[in-house]
Amino acid sequence: MARTVEPEFQGARRRLVEAIRDKGINDLAVLRAFEMTPRHAFVPTGLRHKAYEDAPLPIGSGQTISQPSIHAKYLELLRLTGREKVLEIGTGSGYQTVLLAHLVAQVFSIERIPALVQQAKLNIQAAGVTNVSLLLGDGTVGWREYAPYDAILVSAASPSVPEPLKEQLAEGGRLLVPIGGKDEQELVMITRKGTEFLRENILAVRFVPLLGTHGWRENEKGK
Ligand code: SAM
Repeated sequence: MARTVEPEFQGARRRLVEAIRDKGINDLAVLRAFEMTPRHAFVPTGLRHKAYEDAPLPIGSGQTISQPSIHAKYLELLRLTGREKVLEIGTGSGYQTVLLAHLVAQVFSIERIPALVQQAKLNIQAAGVTNVSLLLGDGTVGWREYAPYDAILVSAASPSVPEPLKEQLAEGGRLLVPIGGKDEQELVMITRKGTEFLRENILAVRFVPLLGTHGWRENEKGK
């Protein structure tokens, strides 16, 4: 059971939810998850006053917390029912992890930067959700031990769809991953139908690079 959200920033959080709705997100469970999740607790203290703007913000280690309306788009596209087991690649601050924790049965999340995993762990604990498992490592290889997943969300941009993530999708499962180069990518949704993988291009996005065995190599990032 999640902890009650403190009243601090409640007005700002409601206005963010309205802004997300105005951008065409109608899934009530998704909007409720945003209302329940205090974004200001996931950003550095000096940026809390900006936490409810619909914009990405730096979270340290050269990384960012994504724009809330992009998180909302991801979550709506997955058409979640509450029963899913989900894998997230790129925990970052843990904000999207907590949104997911409110919407599905079990969340597995992988982050490659140790300092971010440590901070995310604290943020997730403070949010009071208990259905999250974190792993420090290369998310491009997935997390085989708990596969298959009903949904996989990649929060960093890759030059191509990482094969291990496709393999770890359950039947009917959906994988969301930004594919492209340094400046712009296309958010791609892959749906597994037996041995087939249906591919849809959703919208233009801009993410930090996915660094790892099946993403960008450290020395070629963002070419
Ligand atoms: N959704 C996150 C949030 O709510 O704060 C923000 C994610 S941030 C845009 C992308 C994250 O992906 C970064 O923290 C980055 O370190 C991580 N990342 C990049 N490559 C990765 C990999 N191979 N495995 C795991 N995490 C990776």
